Amino acid sequence: METKLFQKNDSGFICAHCGKAVEPLSVTSRNHCPFCLWSLHVDINPGDRACACGGGMEPIAARPDPKAGFVILHRCTKCGALHPNKAAYGVKNQPDSVKALIALTARPWIE
Ligand SMILES: [Zn+2]
Ligand SMILES: [Zn+2]
Repeated sequence: METKLFQKNDSGFICAHCGKAVEPLSVTSRNHCPFCLWSLHVDINPGDRACACGGGMEPIAARPDPKAGFVILHRCTKCGALHPNKAAYGVKNQPDSVKALIALTARPWIE
């Protein structure tokens, strides 16, 4: 089976939630949409694309992080899995919407 395409995970994609074209990040792998912050449940460990679930992951909360700027908490709408993800904050190309991040910090964080 050809799996090479899925090894390099910093590729652009069309957001399954808002339909906007998301460009690749050069510094780290992009796992969510910078516009609506939704993600897809495709990783078991960050970037491995090893999860077959494929459900839409809703951003349900965010909190400030000393290293990443913000961490976003995603919850899978299909299986309910919770995943904290680093925000693409302060990057040059399509940074995460700061307005959306700040709005999410008002929501309760679930451990
Ligand atoms: Zn989106
Ligand atoms: Zn899932």
